[in-house]
Amino acid sequence: PSPVRIIGGGLAGSEAAWQCARRGVAVTLVEMRPVRATDAHVTDGLAELVCSNSFRSDDAEGNAVGLLHAEMRRLDSLVMAAADRHRVPAGGALAVDREAFSRDVQAALEAHPNVTITREEVTALPDAAAGPTIIATGPLTSSALADAIRAETGEDQLAFFDAIAPIVHKDSIDFDVAWFQSRYDKGDGADYINCPMDRDQYNAFLDALLAAEKVAFKEWEGTPYFEGCLPIEVMAERGRETLSYGPMKPVGLTNPRQPDRKPHAIVQLRQDNALGTLYNMVGFQTKLRHGEQARIFRMIPGLETAEFARLGGIHRNTFLNSPRLLDGTLRLKSRPWVRFAGQITGCEGYVESAAVGLMAGLFASAEAVGAEAAPPPPETALGALLNHITNPAHAETFQPMNVNFGLFPELPAEMTRVGKRKLRGRERKALYGQRALPALTAWMETAATGRAA
Ligand code: FAD
Repeated sequence: PSPVRIIGGGLAGSEAAWQCARRGVAVTLVEMRPVRATDAHVTDGLAELVCSNSFRSDDAEGNAVGLLHAEMRRLDSLVMAAADRHRVPAGGALAVDREAFSRDVQAALEAHPNVTITREEVTALPDAAAGPTIIATGPLTSSALADAIRAETGEDQLAFFDAIAPIVHKDSIDFDVAWFQSRYDKGDGADYINCPMDRDQYNAFLDALLAAEKVAFKEWEGTPYFEGCLPIEVMAERGRETLSYGPMKPVGLTNPRQPDRKPHAIVQLRQDNALGTLYNMVGFQTKLRHGEQARIFRMIPGLETAEFARLGGIHRNTFLNSPRLLDGTLRLKSRPWVRFAGQITGCEGYVESAAVGLMAGLFASAEAVGAEAAPPPPETALGALLNHITNPAHAETFQPMNVNFGLFPELPAEMTRVGKRKLRGRERKALYGQRALPALTAWMETAATGRAA
């Protein structure tokens, strides 16, 4: 099989290297640290965890990231094996001793006869002669390589910041209060979800917003705001009615329950995924602390019991518009010998980055032995994540996201009932896993997932 070059020895690159190596494919893993540093890493170890030491919930029955853990373990993930070996007590979460974890990943790769590790900064996109390559340089991709990628993809297809508005699970919105309508009934006439506020509600909301705790920008994030995506709390500081004349303007909309009374302000939510299960709060990018966001945004009528698939934030994050640029197996359409993996593809989180690395390694090693690389089915956590990243229908609204059940195809009605009883909460969440794991097994048996060499 032809050798694979992997650029970036973080969570994704390390996992991709392992997946190739264990299938008998030779890999060279190129990591720039310690030759060149990033603003967040502090060691020169592979798979360094730059912030928290948690891989989040390990509950495969109640949580999408827990399900992703389970699927990765079945595919002999190095990141999961090392995490399991260096687990520290953390309730239902999988937390690790970060130094032992990183040392373990590095030692496993160094010991593997198919793996060569080199330390240098890669500054250009490889041409075809360089052979199959996986780029997994992460949210802090060095600027020379980021420039080279941007030159290839176009200025506006590689983001450097994440300015994210909170994303809400549609089924947690109270439709006795909220209603569907587009401003001036444009488009389909019902593309947005609207939440009305009277003057008192608006004033209370504004007071809470102004008093809320904000996250300070770290020095390495030192960024001027773009006027187009000011944090909501910064806008609020500009004047008490800035929001009601801005993102919360009540014009062109009629509350069907009170057609004669114009709301003082309206919060709009826009569909965020092709499945229509997730909606983002329009104009609500924010640097409020997560706990504060949940508390304050639940003051909005209709969102009192909102469940957030992701809370808002603004931070440095280099990521591609993958739904536009990559194909279904993570290949750059304009240079199909190059794959991308990890957070640079627009997933979010340690586990998700490693999961996308796992898939890239799997696809690349299938190709290296002349087999067809088949993506995992969308009912699996791996497939749901891959679909979020590569489905062209997401190109216009693409934002990085953690894995969550909103990314999965909806459960068929017959699965969600026992007799007349409708399953809810944990029982309902467990169904995603009950559907995913057999689908994963079937895929592993038929697709070219390549047995261990
Ligand atoms: P990384 O793990 O960053 O790996 C990329 C590697 O590529 C690095 O080792 C880097 O040195 C190397 N590299 C970069 N450019 C080049 C180049 N040109 N040539 C060669 N090598 C290069 N996720 C969580 O789940 N929990 C958290 O608490 C968390 N905190 C975060 C805090 C910060 C400050 C940031 C930036 C991100 C955080 N994330 C967190 C998000 C994300 O999950 C991690 O960044 C994760 O490490 C991404 O994995 P990755 O493999 O894509 O990138």
